[in-house]
This record gives sequence, structure tokens and C-alpha cells, in this order.
Amino acid sequence: MKGNLHIAIDGPAASGKTDTGKLLAEELGILFLDTGLMYRAMTYYFLNSKLDENNFDLINKDIFDDINIEIFNNQNVILNNIDISKVIFSDDVNNKVSIYAGIKSIRESLVKKQQLIAQDNDIVMVGRDIGTVVLPDAKFKFFLDCSLNTRAMRRMHQDDKKKFTNEKDKLNNRDLLDKNREISPLLPSEDAVIVFNDYVNLNETVKLIKNIVLN
Ligand code: C5P
Repeated sequence: MKGNLHIAIDGPAASGKTDTGKLLAEELGILFLDTGLMYRAMTYYFLNSKLDENNFDLINKDIFDDINIEIFNNQNVILNNIDISKVIFSDDVNNKVSIYAGIKSIRESLVKKQQLIAQDNDIVMVGRDIGTVVLPDAKFKFFLDCSLNTRAMRRMHQDDKKKFTNEKDKLNNRDLLDKNREISPLLPSEDAVIVFNDYVNLNETVKLIKNIVLN
């Protein structure tokens, strides 16, 4: 694990992690993994299993052996042979993902998978706990951040049917759950470079990070 080039990028929802990480990995010619997709896939699975998230820790951990999540082309998410790439961005999943992401057994199962992927690969991995928990020895750690207003604006630009205050509330709720959960809360690792990108565009952010990585 130590010999590989591991780049951790964490940050709140809509801070530009995925676009930045994807482009950076492409330019460096290394793997990319958006761990948010895995939490979304898990949430979708359990929402459909009708398991009550409040009694979650009573379930048999063997259930995780039956949940097979595959990601192709950095965006096609296949759960037990079913393509769930679109539904994992539905309101149902958006509203619940931070709750399921706070459940210990789910995190343990996904962190294990993520560490296994990084074990033999150079990789840019993005999420909430990559620098702190998944890849604590990563050579490079970044934490992308920007104001709630900018993040809500970005979400609106992705879909013009979205309403600003609505988006702002939804992002804020998710941030609060992610920052305040007991296990692996969203926070910058002590050795992370914090990049505020309110006034820095995607290409500039990638350039800045790439300069640090290559120098
Ligand atoms: O990155 P994205 O917004 O798609 O992530 C969805 C949710 O998954 C986050 O709000 C968070 O609750 C959870 N997540 C997490 N740890 C990660 C990645 C995502 O808790 N490493």
C-alpha cells in the first residue's frame, strides 16, 4: 500500500471533488474512485430491502457478502448485476444516504473494499473520510471546500429545475449529518491541503493540485 501513489480528496457535497478527482486522475493516468457512489449504492440496496435503519446493528454482517457493487467508467454503478447508475441520484437516496453512511457495519464493509482497490494501484480517491480513515498514509491529501451558496448554485446549473433555497437546505442537511456523525465524520485530515474553490474553476483547481503532486 505504501509504495503506491495515493491521492485523497475529501470535502462536503458539491465542493467539486468528483470533477476535480476525475480530471486529475485522467491527467496523471491513474485510477479514480468516487466512494460516494458506493455509499449511494448501499443506501439504494437497503432502502429496497426495507430494513429499518434504526435496528441496523442487529442484522447479520454476512449480508454484506451478498452485496456486489461494481463501478465502470467511473460512473456506471452495477449492484448485483442491475444498473443503478441513475436511481442512486434520486431524492429517496439523496435524503437517506447520510443516515446509512453513519452506520458502522456499512462503513466497515465499504472501507475494506476501498482499501483493497488502493492496495495494488495508484489512485485518486474522493469522499469524506479518505484522508482520515481509508488512506491515512496517502502521500497527498486535499480537502476541497467552498461556500454553501456556491455549492447550491453549482447544483442548480447541473439541473435548471432545481430551486436555490431547496438545494441549499438539502446540501446543508447532508453536511450537518456528515460532519456530526460519530464514526468517520467529514473533516480535513490534519495533514491535508485545504483548497477553497469559490473563485477557482475546475481546471485551475486541478492545475493547483497537480503542481503539488508533481513537484
Ligand atoms: O459524494 P456524494 O455526495 O455522492 O456522497 C453521498 C453521501 O455518501 C455523502 O453525503 C456521505 O453521507 C456519504 N459518504 C461518506 N463517506 C464517503 C463518501 C460518501 O460518508 N467516503
